[in-house]
Amino acid sequence: HSSRGHSVYAAEIDAHSPARLTLLADLRRDSCRDQFEIHFQPEVEFATGRVRRAEALARWQHPELGLLLPRDFIPLAEAGNLVHQVTRWAREAAIQACRRWQRHGLEVGVSVNLSPRDLREAGLAQSIAATLAAAGLEPRWLTIEITEGSLLADPDHAIALLRPILEAGVGLSIDDFGTGYSSLSHMKQLPASEIKIDRNFVHEMTRNEPDAIELGHSFGRQVVAEGIEDLPTWNLLASLGCDLGQGFLISPPLDEAAAVEWMRGAPWSPPTGRSRRR
Ligand code: C2E
Ligand code: MG
Ligand code: MG
Repeated sequence: HSSRGHSVYAAEIDAHSPARLTLLADLRRDSCRDQFEIHFQPEVEFATGRVRRAEALARWQHPELGLLLPRDFIPLAEAGNLVHQVTRWAREAAIQACRRWQRHGLEVGVSVNLSPRDLREAGLAQSIAATLAAAGLEPRWLTIEITEGSLLADPDHAIALLRPILEAGVGLSIDDFGTGYSSLSHMKQLPASEIKIDRNFVHEMTRNEPDAIELGHSFGRQVVAEGIEDLPTWNLLASLGCDLGQGFLISPPLDEAAAVEWMRGAPWSPPTGRSRRR
C-alpha cells in the first residue's frame, strides 16, 4: 500500500451503518492501540530547503480494512468520546519520535494536531508538559496545531487552557487558516506563533489575489502553506515570502523510518524541469 493509504470506507460510514458501529467497537478495544501508527510529513523552509519540522499524522492499520486515514476514524472517535485517547497517544508517540531524531543529530521539531474536543480536556496543558518532561524534549521543539474554527468557537477558553504550555515555549499554529470566518481582531488576539494556510486556499492562491501571507506577517506570525502539489505553487509562495511549505511536491507523509531517511537527505530543492523528482 502507499503511505497515503486509501479512504474508500469514509463514504460508506454513515451515522448508523453497521460498518460504523463495528469500527467504533474496534476503536474501543485496547488492542487497537497497537494498530495505530504515526506518519510524518516534512515542513521545509522556502529560503533554504532546510527541514524545520515534521507534522505527525495518525494512521490506523486496521486488521481487516487496511490502512485508514484520519477522516475514517477521527470523526468517529470524536462522536464516541474516544478522541482524547487517540490524540494523546499520537502526541506521546510524536514527542518520543522527535526526541529520537534529536538524539541522532536531526534538529527537527514536530507538530501535532488537536481536535476540537481535545480543547475540552481539563489538564491538557499539564498532560503535554508531562509528556515532554518524560521524553526529555524541550518544549520549543513542539508545535500544536488547532484549526481556526475550533479555536474561535471559544477563544477565551482555548487560550486559558493552552496558556501554560505556550508560556513554556510550545508553539501554536492555526491550522486550516482561511476556511473559517475569523475577523482580524480575533486572529490578533490568539497567542499563535504561526498560521498554516489551508490547502484549498493554497490551491486557490494561484488564481486569486494572495494576501494571507502578508496578513500573517503583519501580525508577526510565521506563515506555513500546506498542500503544495506543484512547482508553480511553490514558486508563487516563495515569491510572496511564505516561510515554510508542506505538501506532496516536497514529500507525502512517511512512516518514521522513511521520514528520518528523507530528513537526512535535506535540504530539499524544488525539482527542475529535467531532473527526476525525489
Ligand atoms: P491537517 O492537519 O490539515 O493535515 C494535512 C492533511 O493534508 C493530511 O491529511 C495530509 O496527508 C494532507 N496533505 C498533505 N500534503 C498534501 C497535498 O499536497 N495535497 C493534498 N490534497 N493533501 C495533502 P491526513 O493525514 O488525512 O489528515 C487529515 C486531518 O486529520 C489532518 O488535517 C488533521 O486535522 C487530522 N489529524 C491527523 N492526525 C491527527 C491526530 O493525531 N489527532 C487529531 N486530533 N487529528 C488528526
Ligand atoms: Mg495539521
Ligand atoms: Mg491543515
